[in-house]
Amino acid sequence: MHSTASELERPAMRPAAATKPYALIVEDEPALVELIKYNLVKEGYEVTVATDGEEALLTIEERQPDIVLLDWMLPKLAGIEVARRLRSKASTRNLPIIMLTARAEETDRIRGLDVGADDYMTKPFSMSELTARIRAVMRRIRPALAEDVVVVGDISIDRAAHRVTRNQVEIHLGPTEFRLLDYFIQHPGRVFSREQLLDAVWGSDVYVETRTVDVHIGRLRKALSKAGGEDPIRTVRSAGYALNAG
Ligand code: CA
Repeated sequence: MHSTASELERPAMRPAAATKPYALIVEDEPALVELIKYNLVKEGYEVTVATDGEEALLTIEERQPDIVLLDWMLPKLAGIEVARRLRSKASTRNLPIIMLTARAEETDRIRGLDVGADDYMTKPFSMSELTARIRAVMRRIRPALAEDVVVVGDISIDRAAHRVTRNQVEIHLGPTEFRLLDYFIQHPGRVFSREQLLDAVWGSDVYVETRTVDVHIGRLRKALSKAGGEDPIRTVRSAGYALNAG
C-alpha cells in the first residue's frame, strides 16, 4: 500500500455529486433557461445548460445526466436529431428525455415520442407542470433517485438522514463509502468500471488513482459485513464492481 491516509481522504471534496440528481437543460431561449434552472435547483437538482444541439451531445458525452430537458427548435442540431442520436447509442439509450416544444401539432408530438422522448411538453407550460412531469419520469425510470429511502435486498439507505442499515443493523460509513453505496443502489446489478465509479463518486475533475476505488470498496464491504449476510458487492474480473440486485 503506497497511498497515504491524506491521499485517500482527498476525494471527499464533492459531497453532493453522487446524491443530487443531475439535469441537463438544452434550450436556446435565455429567459426560459433561467426559469427552468431556477425551478430545478429549487427541486434539488444539479443543473447544466447547453444552448445548441451539438453542445448538448458534447456535454452528455462528458458526464451523463439523470434527465435531459430538450428543446425541439435548436441551433446547429435540432432537438429531435439530438434525441435520435442519444437513442442510437448504447450508453445513452435509456437516458430520460423530456422534449420541450413550441409546436402543438399532434404529428410532431408523435414524432417526438417516436424517437424515444419519455415525455413531451408544449410551450408555454407552467413550471409546476414541468416539475411534476420530471418527477413522474424519474420515478418511472430511476426509482432510486426520486426517493429518500431506498431498499435493495437487505440494505436500506436513507439519504435525508444519511443512514444505512442492513438487516435492521445500523451500518456506519465514511462519506466516500456512503456515496459509493448510494451510487450502486441507484443502479442495482449494473457493473461499473473503476473509472466510471471515480467519475460518478469523486467527480471527473478530481485526480485520484483508480486503485483508490479498490480501497474504498474494501471499506464498504467490511462495514456491510458487520451486519452479517453475504457480500453484496460483486467483483467482476477485469471489468469492475456491481451491487447484487438483491
Ligand atoms: Ca428554441
